[in-house]
Amino acid sequence: MSKGNLFVISGPSGSGKDTVLAGVFEKCPELKFSISAITRPMREGETPDGKYRFVSREQFEDMIKNGELLEHNVFVGNYYGTPKKYVVDCLNNGDDVMIEVDVNGARKIKEKMPEAVLMFVCPPSLEVLKHRLTRRGTDAPEVIEKRLKVAIDEIKCAKMYDYIVVNDALEDAIDNAVAIIKTAGLKTENNTDIIDGIVNK
Ligand code: 5GP
Repeated sequence: MSKGNLFVISGPSGSGKDTVLAGVFEKCPELKFSISAITRPMREGETPDGKYRFVSREQFEDMIKNGELLEHNVFVGNYYGTPKKYVVDCLNNGDDVMIEVDVNGARKIKEKMPEAVLMFVCPPSLEVLKHRLTRRGTDAPEVIEKRLKVAIDEIKCAKMYDYIVVNDALEDAIDNAVAIIKTAGLKTENNTDIIDGIVNK
């Protein structure tokens, strides 16, 4: 059995990454999602069984000490990390797995696992990004400016990714992310058993 493929997705605030990801999981129900351990407080609307496992700083630091994390990073004063075991188990079982991380996390994963396929969700323009961040809600103008600055810094790192998914029309962005996943599944190294099955009959 061939190993599963590892995918990493990043995108700044205002890129629509979470919406793209939700669409991808609808179209690829077999894809596994790596639940990150994080120390930031739960936000309104989040649940303990959602996309994060909420842990204390002590628990997180133990996970670091015990080598349980594939990568970890401090983001706005809180720890975020990818538990290693789940990812490794999925890949060994032949399952594809998606990790959602910031640009630092993506860089660290690519260093450790160069076969990881990195995709970056990007807004179509600075104007659209500004509009999305402003439209979002009740953030004060200085908060919006700060988010915009962080988003631009992240977009500056996009060139290290294997693929860019521009999120202009949402359905196109979802289809393009799905195409990246399907393409990885078509790689020769993932299909040698099919070839062997034909020629060794
Ligand atoms: P938020 O607090 O807004 O949910 O996430 C903040 C940032 O942390 C986002 O860019 C998100 O992609 C990133 N992130 C989520 N999980 C992880 C993780 O396990 N490791 C790293 N390095 N970043 C993460």
